[in-house]
Formats: sequence, structure tokens, C-alpha cells
Amino acid sequence: MTCCGNREASGAAPAEADPARPPQVREGASPSGSPAVAAATAWFADMVQHCYDQASAAKAAGRPIVGILCEYTPRELILAAGGLPVCLCGGDAAKIPPAEEILPSNLCPLIKSTFGYHRTGTNPFLEMADLLVAETTCDGKKKMYELMAESRPMHVLELTQKPNEPDAFAHWLSELGRLRAELGRRFGVELTDDRLREGIRAMNRERGLRRLLAGQMRRDPPPFTGRELLDFKSLISCLPADLEQYERAATAAAAAPGRADLAGRVRVLLTGVPVAHMAERVVDLIESHGGVIVCQENCTGLKPIYEDVDESAPDPLRAVAEKYFHLPCSVMTPNDGRMNLLRELADAYRPAAVVELIWQACLTYDVESHRVKRWAEAEGNLPYLRIETDYSPSDSARIALRVEALFETVRARKSSAP
Ligand code: SF4
Ligand code: SF4
Repeated sequence: MTCCGNREASGAAPAEADPARPPQVREGASPSGSPAVAAATAWFADMVQHCYDQASAAKAAGRPIVGILCEYTPRELILAAGGLPVCLCGGDAAKIPPAEEILPSNLCPLIKSTFGYHRTGTNPFLEMADLLVAETTCDGKKKMYELMAESRPMHVLELTQKPNEPDAFAHWLSELGRLRAELGRRFGVELTDDRLREGIRAMNRERGLRRLLAGQMRRDPPPFTGRELLDFKSLISCLPADLEQYERAATAAAAAPGRADLAGRVRVLLTGVPVAHMAERVVDLIESHGGVIVCQENCTGLKPIYEDVDESAPDPLRAVAEKYFHLPCSVMTPNDGRMNLLRELADAYRPAAVVELIWQACLTYDVESHRVKRWAEAEGNLPYLRIETDYSPSDSARIALRVEALFETVRARKSSAP
């Protein structure tokens, strides 16, 4: 996700920290040369408002709103149940103090921000939600969900974490069967194979269009910044108006020349934790100090959209389970799939450096960063920088210095290359 942002629930004018009016920190961006890309950029600048309007209308029409908090949750099933899958991951630093009244301060900011929205009732999508689908990924989220479940309807998917074990997949498949039954029971619909196939087709289309957009970043120079690409992402999946914008922007970007102002920048592969809406500070720091993020391996980038669900599979639920079981999150052990994905992405996007973002207290990504560094430096021959931070801007100057030093290393290598 995610992955998401929120609009203050009151319906009154958005407060200063409202993601409907995010702070304008776009030092790395400049206007696109293509009107269709510019139109898509403008559309997604108001993404939270569009999502709010769509969710409100759907709710009024009796359509269930289902909140999700992780890319392991198959939106296909929610769509098949007639629901609207909305990402609820928090990216707002202002929601952390209310969370810390209950949660330990030494916890990932994404978890705390999400919980802060829950405590303050200021995420209208969360307040509208008829059900939350949570999952057993990292310990912090798992235990935070227990507190949310005291007052909100929740279904928890048990994610098996040893992907190489044959019975692990069987358990995951049975968990998705339970989710299918729960959605059907709760919302009074039969999730037939045909309905599931419709959900699969819709999600495949969305993933395909987002991959097309992301694929434009293989070019040198690319047609937009990493921040602009990150902003081409909706909190709600498969909204027709969003799909139209993805399609128009991807077609237009493919025909447009690369952006001259992005030529000569250091091409960066960003990996690590997801960059939730309103928590894009490190992306902006990289792109305002001479870099352009050409590839985002994380869960707000290519990782969850890299693979589609097999539309022709005889058992659609099994096909959904297979796609999601392959997602290489650091909660998996071993997580060799992530190293394979990084290799493929580095080949395709030709970065000159790797930056790994770790949210403070995210132990799984933090420990795994050792493997990523080893891969980048020893195998990929790519300078590597690990940035551990939270949602506070207090360390921005220090991060900027380290990013500049990384880029100096890249330039020095280039100039000394034969
Ligand atoms: S990084 Fe892992 S836990 Fe976080 S959204 Fe992605 S799959 Fe879920
Ligand atoms: S970033 Fe890490 S600690 Fe935070 S929710 Fe994701 S997996 Fe858990």
C-alpha cells in the first residue's frame, strides 16, 4: 500500500495535515511535456477527494466499503463481493502522537499513523468501512489490529511465512477460502467463480496499466519523476476514472520524449518499506538532490503489481492465492523472491545506485537490508545507501547530505570508468 491517505472525517474544510491537501513538496518535479500526462498528474493530485466522493456514493448506494492494510490482501475477492477495497495505511506524522498514548513509541510510523487515524476517527474511509481485512504479517501490525478489532469489524488473514513449504500454500489457500465465505456471509452475496473471475480481470487490468506507466521509467531520460509516478496511485482499486487516467497517461508518456530536465540525474532504484501517501519525504529528498527514482521495488511500487493472476486457471481462487503467495515481503523466510525481483528490476531499469528506505523499528526490512546491501554492492556493482527514518522531518538535512555523498560516489565512478 500502501499506501494511503485520508480526509478528515468531519466533512469540514480539510485541516492542515489533511492528505486531501498534501504539502507541496515537489522540488524534484517539473511540468511534464505531454498534456495527457499533465492531465493525469492533475487528476491524481486530487486523488483523495475523488476517492472520498466515490466511496461516499458507493456507501449511499449500499455497496460495502472494505478497508485493507497490506498488499497480501486480495482485492479480487472484495471486488467479487461487490465491495470497494480501500487502502487505509497511514502516512500522516500528525496522527502519531495520539497513537503513542497507547502504542509503544518504538514502533514503525506506518503502524502508529494508521492507529492514530483509528483513535482520532479522522479517516473517513476507515469510519465508512463495513469490514477491515487485516493480516498476520509483522508483529507490530498484528498486535495493533487486535486493538482496532475491539471496536471495528475485522477479518484477519493468517499468512503463512515459509513460502518454500508445500503445506504453507495449502494453508494460505484455505485462508482465502475463509475470506471468501466471510465476505459472502457478511454482504449477502455468493462469491461464485464467475464473480471472482470478473474481479481478477479488473485487477489484472489495473496492474497492467500501472506496469505500463512504471515501465516508462526504463527510458533515459524518463518521462516523469519517481514522485510523479508514485502519485499515479489510487487509494481505491479499479475506479473507472482512475483506469482511464492510467491508460491515457501511459499511452501519452510512451509517445512523448523523455524529460530533458531529468537527463543526467542519478538513476535510483528505491527498495524497502512502502511509501504511504503523505510520507514521501525521502522520495522528494532524493529527487531534489540530483536523483531520479526510476524503479520502486517496494509495496507502493512494482512489487505487488509485478505478477498478474492467471485468468484462464480452472480454479480462480487458487490462481489468486498463487499470485499473492509469491509476494516477496520481508516477513517471509527465506525471502529469496525479493532478491530475484531486485535482480530483474536492476537489469530492466539500469539504476546507478540503490537506496533502501527502512521505517524505524521495522525489524524485518532492517535485518534483511544486510542481504540487499550485499546484493547491490557485490553482485550488482551498485553503490548502496540505507536510510532509516520515520515521518518526522527532523533528520532531512542529514539524509540529504548522505544522498549527496552517494551521488558523488556514482559520479566519481562514472568519470573514472574507462
Ligand atoms: S511490505 Fe509486507 S507487510 Fe507491508 S504492505 Fe507490503 S506485503 Fe504487506
Ligand atoms: S514497514 Fe515494516 S514494521 Fe511497518 S508495517 Fe510494514 S512490515 Fe510492519
